[in-house]
Amino acid sequence: MNELTERFETKPVKEQPEKLRCDACPVMCYIAEGRTGACDRYGNFGGRITRCDPVTILEHAAEEGAMLVPFEGEVPWDGELVNTKRRFVSAIGAGTTYPDFKPAPFIVSQDVEGVDLVTVVTEGIFSYCGVKVKIDTDRYLGPEAAAVRAGGEAIGHVTTAEYGSQMLSLGGVHHLTGGSKAEGRVACQALLDLCNKKPVELTIDGGSTVIVEAGQPPVIDGKREARMRVGCGSAAIGMFATQWQGLVDEVVVVDDHITGVVSEHQAGKVIGWQETGIKVIGRRSTPGRYFKVSEPGLGWGGTVLDDPLEILGDFNDKKGARPGLSLLMVSTTGEQFAYYELDAALKPVRKPFPERLGKSVALIEENCEPALCTVLFMGGAGGSLRAGVTENPVNLTRSVHDLKTYVTVGGAPVYVWPGGGITIMVDVMRTPDNAFGYVPTPALVAPIEFTLRRDDYIRLGGHADEIRSVEDVLEKGGEYFNARQARGAAPGNPWPPLQQLHREPKR
Ligand code: SF4
Repeated sequence: MNELTERFETKPVKEQPEKLRCDACPVMCYIAEGRTGACDRYGNFGGRITRCDPVTILEHAAEEGAMLVPFEGEVPWDGELVNTKRRFVSAIGAGTTYPDFKPAPFIVSQDVEGVDLVTVVTEGIFSYCGVKVKIDTDRYLGPEAAAVRAGGEAIGHVTTAEYGSQMLSLGGVHHLTGGSKAEGRVACQALLDLCNKKPVELTIDGGSTVIVEAGQPPVIDGKREARMRVGCGSAAIGMFATQWQGLVDEVVVVDDHITGVVSEHQAGKVIGWQETGIKVIGRRSTPGRYFKVSEPGLGWGGTVLDDPLEILGDFNDKKGARPGLSLLMVSTTGEQFAYYELDAALKPVRKPFPERLGKSVALIEENCEPALCTVLFMGGAGGSLRAGVTENPVNLTRSVHDLKTYVTVGGAPVYVWPGGGITIMVDVMRTPDNAFGYVPTPALVAPIEFTLRRDDYIRLGGHADEIRSVEDVLEKGGEYFNARQARGAAPGNPWPPLQQLHREPKR
């Protein structure tokens, strides 16, 4: 017996409780009793791998518009034969099957209005995913294609602006897995927070800092945005020209995109607006419509301007300018406005704002919608997901595109991109709170449900032996021993999706 074996044999071995291996994702954590794994979604409790959050059953009012009172805790199934609410087993808390060939955690059948429907639910692990963010503001956030950062790490970029909104594209496989570990971790955390409707501070290279929170106004460089513009400067002229006629001699709607001038604009011409000899410094597009009157910024109408007179050249008396001529300058949201009159030298001089114009400025403001941040989760349903639904995954893709399978994320309807694969987008505001999770590969975990007629499910090679009733799921739960929880479905999310499933395919 050598020294090492002697020591080993004479010392008592300390009993270690057995660690269990979680197999719900490729990380394969070993988890000690009473602890959770790296993603905090699974733990070892009572010697079993348990999904820590409850399975969420969504309850829809049987009648359109009826109120639902959400409640937490185990679903009490009282055995009533007549259930006045429509239940939907969502994938939130359902768990993930890994590797690919296992059937999804819940495959639930339900007779809905005489149609036998099957819903396949799973928490999908999305390595290919990101969010598209729409920020309702005219203010300049940064140049197109500039990097967007969270915690100093690049997690996306500024993409093309839309009407009245600035757009960001965040996440994606290159930021999640193609860069440094820190970049992937920070990108994953930012996506998770955005999808779970939490605020995230983002900085844009060469631009602003913006706090984005789904369903809330953006906060840009510390200032909370209030309104989304009524339209571009040209549109505002078109909308309000008749309201200004007779009250003021000239109106300029200042806008970073298209600045409008009523006396030159077609909307002014058709109602006989007189020339004023005004000169706007900018690139004239068509009469009364000017591009690039300034650089984009945080000032009037999304320009850098604090003083709108900077966009005006000299007034021309040969084209109608005269002392006393009145001029209204206003931004596209009506938040900034000023009134001027030309002096003897035809220079505009600011005057107290006249009461007679107050109503028209208020009308611009009134027509502006509240500025909000919109977050759309976007992901591609790949191997594990599709194989969990059917033994022949491409059949699911075809069924989705043929509108025979209805896809939801936590009960919320999705937009399915045409073309190959199952690439979806969903408004996170329509999903229940905290519906999203993550795994440290890093990737986002999103609930996803596929609903189709039972006969279609069997035809596409579905896991027929795994089909269970809703009542069975409520009573016995699933593989991961977690509780069940009922929550009211978000208003407007349709269930059952019979109308959608009965539509004719587009191709
Ligand atoms: S990261 Fe989460 S899902 Fe993946 S193995 Fe660990 S505990 Fe399980």
